Amino acid sequence: MADNNTFDVIVIGSGISGGWAAKEFTEKGLKTLVLERGKDVKHLKDYPTTNMMPWEFEHRGQVPYAIQKDNPVVSRCYAFREDAMHFFVKDTDHPYVQDKPFDWIRGYQVGGKSLLWARQTQRWSNYDFEGPARDGFAVDWPIRYNDLAPWYSYVEKFAGISGNKDGLDVLPDGEFLPPLELSCVENYFKEFVAKKYTDRHVIYARCAHLTVPQQIHLDQGRAQCQKRNLCQRGCPFGGYFSSNASTIPWAEKTGNLTLRSNAVVHSIIYDDQKGKATGVRVIDTNTKAATEYFARIIFVNAAALNTNLVLLNSTSKRFPNGLGNDSGVLGKYVAFHNYRAHISGKYDGFKDSKTDGRTPTSAYLPRFRNVKKQETDFLRGYAAGFSAGRYPNINRDGFGETLKNNLASKELGPWRVGSHMMGETIPKESNTVSLDANKKDAWDMPLLKVSIDYDENDEKMVKDYLEQMTEMFTAAGFTDIQTNDSKQAPGLDIHEMGGARMGNDPKTSILNKWNQLHACKNVFVTDGACMTSTSTQNPSLTYMALTARAADYAMSQMKKGEL
Ligand SMILES: Cc1cc2nc3c(=O)[nH]c(=O)nc-3n(C[C@H](O)[C@H](O)[C@H](O)COP(=O)(O)OP(=O)(O)OC[C@H]3O[C@@H](n4cnc5c(N)ncnc54)[C@H](O)[C@@H]3O)c2cc1C
Ligand code: SF4
Repeated sequence: MADNNTFDVIVIGSGISGGWAAKEFTEKGLKTLVLERGKDVKHLKDYPTTNMMPWEFEHRGQVPYAIQKDNPVVSRCYAFREDAMHFFVKDTDHPYVQDKPFDWIRGYQVGGKSLLWARQTQRWSNYDFEGPARDGFAVDWPIRYNDLAPWYSYVEKFAGISGNKDGLDVLPDGEFLPPLELSCVENYFKEFVAKKYTDRHVIYARCAHLTVPQQIHLDQGRAQCQKRNLCQRGCPFGGYFSSNASTIPWAEKTGNLTLRSNAVVHSIIYDDQKGKATGVRVIDTNTKAATEYFARIIFVNAAALNTNLVLLNSTSKRFPNGLGNDSGVLGKYVAFHNYRAHISGKYDGFKDSKTDGRTPTSAYLPRFRNVKKQETDFLRGYAAGFSAGRYPNINRDGFGETLKNNLASKELGPWRVGSHMMGETIPKESNTVSLDANKKDAWDMPLLKVSIDYDENDEKMVKDYLEQMTEMFTAAGFTDIQTNDSKQAPGLDIHEMGGARMGNDPKTSILNKWNQLHACKNVFVTDGACMTSTSTQNPSLTYMALTARAADYAMSQMKKGEL
């Protein structure tokens, strides 16, 4: 390090992907600066609600009406509750422009949304990487499953992923710890589907929980998951993977990490003479003071839409429309996951069984539509979650003692079953994010304008999911089946992707096969912004694998003097 502001590597953002970049570079001896716009959140110390009992919450877990009213967007997220609302960005604090309705759910703090995520972690397969080329949308991915497979293994071993080896080519197996158990009705549906269908499977959801910690997890100071299912509060055992419990403290231990919280990256500095990026401009969130930091390599990991914002805001003589934006596609072809449809029902069997305790996950149906060939009138397909539980019959009738006795009754109702869809959406040029021409935030950054919508393909997919699941639920003997299309706005899936997509051709993409800007080789983007298409799988495991792979490449290029 030449001076206090010069490092080998700068990483923008400390969430799931930024944490991985920090771990990889510091472990290999590079002086790494992580810039995080939110406050610091230290593992264990800064989880204020983690051990609170339900009755210790002022509003018994509910979000007060005044907060909901002021923050309609974030209030729609299922995890925005009294125990975790301090980890979410409030609408009022960080406005953006909704050209079309878009629920932008954010976590600005050290750890980003890794504290809040539902920890579902599945690999992509070649059916996903080959999707755009086969079905004629977006651009061809510049990589295939084999390029990423070793990196999936690499990140899975460190993060700790529980699951079962199912041998499905649509959902490749990983380096699994034992799976979390299913309830008896989830198991029943799993066995029923296996008998009735050859193309459909119900499996143990794969998730980032330490069911049986290995030495590498103990070395991180983490312990076995206790199945409290209170993960969004921050886990006192480090039972699930977060940057805070895992990658960031690991990077800190090397002595090579400098972590600056409350530091908003305003833009990346491009030097026209040198023909490369030299550093970043940063605004202190409290004092509003501006500082510049310099490094040979810059990793942009601010989460998909904020990464687009930083790149679009990084203008120079060479790049008047945003860093690396020679093709003009920066901010375009943004996509997400279609989570609109739900189905529920009841099951009258297993009356002698019940669910006691908690489980932090449930069952998963990998995609089965249009996998090997086109078979419907819509492109691509959907995965689905499946869960079954038994809950008390709450009787609120009566007054006084009768009411108390009714409420105190432990009588259980029948098993309830439910599923939600996780559909792939097609990236389109018209689904964009851009900089608002007039409005700025408190840190002199233009507000992000979001213009993203569903299309006819998505509508057809919702209909198909509800028809297929109704058929499967009916065949399985579930009754009282109710379907629902929430018509929720894009964004609430919290899987927004694209805008700086990967591709072979610099004329139609922003990043090459190493997640490196085609036009500015020392800047890498490895969060959701890089995604050429979305598949159906939860995306974060893929961001982790892409980050570790790109960091390895960047270091090899640095050694060769190419960066
Ligand atoms: C309730 C919930 C459930 C989810 N469930 C799942 C799931 O089951 N599986 C799954 O794969 N994904 C899930 N996700 C999504 C997952 O959390 C994200 O995909 C993941 O966190 C993205 O990682 P990231 O590094 O790109 O961004 P983040 O983790 O969001 O981190 C980005 C960081 O960058 C910082 N930042 C932003 N702009 C700037 C700037 N200009 N300067 C400096 N810092 C900046 C932010 O403050 C933040 O800390 C869920 C998310 C939520 C909220
Ligand atoms: S379920 Fe596991 S990971 Fe989640 S809070 Fe509990 S112990 Fe931690």
